Amino acid sequence: MKNIAILGSTGSIGTQTIDIIASAPESFRATVLTAGSNVDLLIQQCRKLRPALAVIADESRYRELHEALAPLGIHTGAGADAIADAMTRDDVDQVVTATVGYSGLIPTLRAIEADKDIALANKETLVAAGQLVTECLDASRSRVIPVDSEHSAIYQCLRGERHDEVSRLIITASGGPFRNFTAAQLRDVTAADALRHPNWVMGAKITIDSATMINKAFEIIEARWLFNIDADRIMPVVHPQSIVHSMVEFHDGAVKAQLGTPDMHLPIAYALGDTTRLPDCSRRLSITDFAHLDFVEPDYERFPCLGLARRALDEGGTTACAVNAANEIANLAFRQGRIAFTDIYTVIDSTLEAMTQTECPSLDDYIAANTEGRARAAEAVKCLEAAASYVTTIP
Ligand code: NDP
Ligand code: MG
Repeated sequence: MKNIAILGSTGSIGTQTIDIIASAPESFRATVLTAGSNVDLLIQQCRKLRPALAVIADESRYRELHEALAPLGIHTGAGADAIADAMTRDDVDQVVTATVGYSGLIPTLRAIEADKDIALANKETLVAAGQLVTECLDASRSRVIPVDSEHSAIYQCLRGERHDEVSRLIITASGGPFRNFTAAQLRDVTAADALRHPNWVMGAKITIDSATMINKAFEIIEARWLFNIDADRIMPVVHPQSIVHSMVEFHDGAVKAQLGTPDMHLPIAYALGDTTRLPDCSRRLSITDFAHLDFVEPDYERFPCLGLARRALDEGGTTACAVNAANEIANLAFRQGRIAFTDIYTVIDSTLEAMTQTECPSLDDYIAANTEGRARAAEAVKCLEAAASYVTTIP
């Protein structure tokens, strides 16, 4: 029996994690559930799974949570500190990091310090502070199993292989909904267009990140830290069918791939099962589904966010943390209709130009870079909004 804490149980990965836990009650028990603000769903999940503790980040929803769960004997908490503390409890063996954005960093670090195993979905943790998280892991008994489908695929391909025989990691990308759009067409796409991903159903933030392809840049950074490999040996390739989840090339020329339907239940179950394969956890791939597979080079001009991986890793320090912070602001501003799709890159680029870079950062330096990155990106959003309204008011 493994005791599991789900950091972000009400989201896309969180709810699919609950599906897996509920399907194998003899193997898994959810002991801690946390959410941002969706108190109704959190209460519903607690009624079903009866965890020991439920924590909500939004303190204004605490009373509602407590009143619903106290009669069931479920402990409750609120706020970011309570979430981070919950990761260190004795009744937690593994933490599924299914929260979105920078909010994953501190609770994940706390879990690693407490020697908890990590099923890592929250890639932003490694994007923002990969160096620090890796050092923290080296000093801990905690083990990380990736949940991101590409990294789970690579992890599966690497099992039984030698690290010094790996020549390249080939990370597949669907290309998102705008794969075939021209640069001019990209300027006019709306958030509703961008939220219609062709292959995957995911939370709003990552769906927009997939459309700009910054998600793939983040996955290159994530792979760099997870698999301890230089960025110039990590190749993104556009594969519109999302059947091959990623590949590893070895130095004799052999290439191993992991294939499957686009369904996150499988990588989640693989991480929960500690690489033991749970039967029938995802839809089977029919042979006709992979009768035709395409692989094409990504276009860095139409999707400049993709180039941010190399820029961030080459500069090192807090640059990737700033990219992540600026992207969170720009992604939200685009969803709110405040800036254009192509402005997302502009906001990140102007944030990086203005940032003060910190070499060999400490946790405090990452926290400061995140705060500064957000503030500078928010300024850039305001400038773009002002420029757009000036243009529209010219008679
Ligand atoms: P969602 O937006 O669907 O869910 C996010 C979860 O985190 C929700 O439970 C949300 O609570 C909670 N949350 C949000 N903000 C905070 C906060 N400040 N403090 C605490 N909890 C918070 O995201 P996804 O499930 O799509 O993605 C989660 C992570 O997994 C991301 O890092 C993403 O990149 C990664 N990932 C996701 C994939 C997918 O298929 N969805 C695939 C691969 C990786 P509430 O509901 O109350 O807002
Ligand atoms: Mg992915």
